[in-house]
Amino acid sequence: MPRALLLENIDPVAVDLLSAAGYEVETVRGALDPADLSAALDGVDVLGIRSKTQVDADVLARHPGLGAIGAFCIGTNQIDLTAAAAAGVAVFNAPYSNTRSVVELAIAEIISLARRLIDRDRALHAGTWDKSASGSHEIRGRTLGIIGYGNIGSQLSVLAEALGMRVVYYDLEDKLALGNAERCNSLDELLERAETVTLHVDGRGGNAGMFGAEQFAKMRPRSLFLNLSRGFVVDHEALRDNILSGHIAGAAVDVFPEEPREQGDEFVSALRGLPNVILTPHVGGSTQEAQYDIGRFVAGKLADYTRTGTTTLSVNLPAVALHGSSADRFGLLHHNIPGVLARVDALVGDHGLNVDGQVLGTRGQIGYVVTDVNAVLPAELLAALRELPETVRLTTFR
Ligand code: NAD
Repeated sequence: MPRALLLENIDPVAVDLLSAAGYEVETVRGALDPADLSAALDGVDVLGIRSKTQVDADVLARHPGLGAIGAFCIGTNQIDLTAAAAAGVAVFNAPYSNTRSVVELAIAEIISLARRLIDRDRALHAGTWDKSASGSHEIRGRTLGIIGYGNIGSQLSVLAEALGMRVVYYDLEDKLALGNAERCNSLDELLERAETVTLHVDGRGGNAGMFGAEQFAKMRPRSLFLNLSRGFVVDHEALRDNILSGHIAGAAVDVFPEEPREQGDEFVSALRGLPNVILTPHVGGSTQEAQYDIGRFVAGKLADYTRTGTTTLSVNLPAVALHGSSADRFGLLHHNIPGVLARVDALVGDHGLNVDGQVLGTRGQIGYVVTDVNAVLPAELLAALRELPETVRLTTFR
C-alpha cells in the first residue's frame, strides 16, 4: 500500500480523500525540522505540508521514492521546486481555495470603514455614547476601484456590484470585465474615479513600493484605502501621513512589509493607533472554509496524479492530462531533449503494443509524457523505459 505523510495539522478531508485513493495515511500535528523530516520520509510516497516545513534539494535527494508533494497552502517558497522537478517530484498547491475568504473580509472592511465602525466600537468600549450619522455612508452607489483584477479582484468585483457599488478596475493585463465593471486604462484613471481603492496585485518584484505618496496624492479627497495583497507594495509611512492629514478617510490593512514570525511577537508598524484604520494579522484567507477547501483541493490533485498521471495545476511539472481509458497507462518524466518521444514509441512498438492515446508536455528542463497502450504493459517494456538515459521517473497506472 502506498504511504502518505501529512504534517502541520492539515484538514481531515485530505486524509479521507487520500485513503479513498488507496493510501495508508499518517498525520503529524506540527512541522518537522530537516533531520526529523528525513527520518519520517522513509517509505513515504506522498508528502503533505503547509508553510512551515522546508523541503530542500538534500531531503529530495535522500528520498527518491517520494513521488509528489502537496503544499496545503497558497505559497510554495518552502519547497525547492526546481530540485523537485529535476527529481520528478510533482508539487501541487491550492491557488484559489481562500479567494472567497479574502473577498468577504474586503467587503466587511469596506462597509466598516464607510460606517466608521471601528471608531464607534472603540468609543463605546471606552464608555462614550456617540450616536451620530456624521461621516457614515452607505456603500451603495459608491465607486470601488480594484487594482489587480485576478482571482481575488474579479470575485470582489462581482460581490461589490451585488451590494450596489459601481466597480472600476485596473490590471496590467487585458482582463475580462465581469458584470458592469469598467476597465481603466491607467492607474491614474482609476485613482481619479474611485472613492474606495483596494489593492489585489500579485507579489512580483516590480510591485515593491508601487503605492506611495504620489498615488495617495492622486486619490480623491476623503476616500478609503485597502490592502489585502502584499505588504511590500504599499509605503506605510505615506499611508500614515495621508490618514493623519485627513486626505484618506480610512484604511484597512491585512499585510505588512515585515510581519512578526511567531504568535504573540510584538507587531511594529507606522499604522498602529490611527483613527478609522483596521489592522488585521494577515488573516484575509484564514477561515475554516478555506482550510477545508485547501485540504479537498490539494488532496484531490494528489489523488488524480496517483490514479491517472494528471499534472494539471502542478506548480513545477508540465501540465498533462490524458482523457479516456485503455488497457494500460504509463507516465514518463524525462529530460527535455530531442528524440525522447520517438524512442518511447519505438520501444512500445518493439514490444508489440500499440499507442492508444498520448499527451506530451514540457517545462524547462523536464518533459512528461503520458501514454495509453492497448495491452497490459510487459515487465520487459517497463524495464527498457526505465533504462532510457533520459528517464527521470516512470510511473504506471491501473
Ligand atoms: P492573481 O495572480 O490571480 O491576480 C493578481 C492580478 O494582479 C493579476 O491579474 C495581475 O495581472 C495583476 N497585477 C499585478 N501587478 C499589477 C500592477 N502593478 N498593476 C495592476 N495589476 C497588476 O492573484 P490573486 O489570487 O487574486 O491574489 C492577489 C493578491 O492577494 C496576491 O498578492 C496574494 O498573495 C494575496 N493574497 C492575500 C491573502 C491574505 O491572507 N491577505 C490571501 C490570499 C492571497
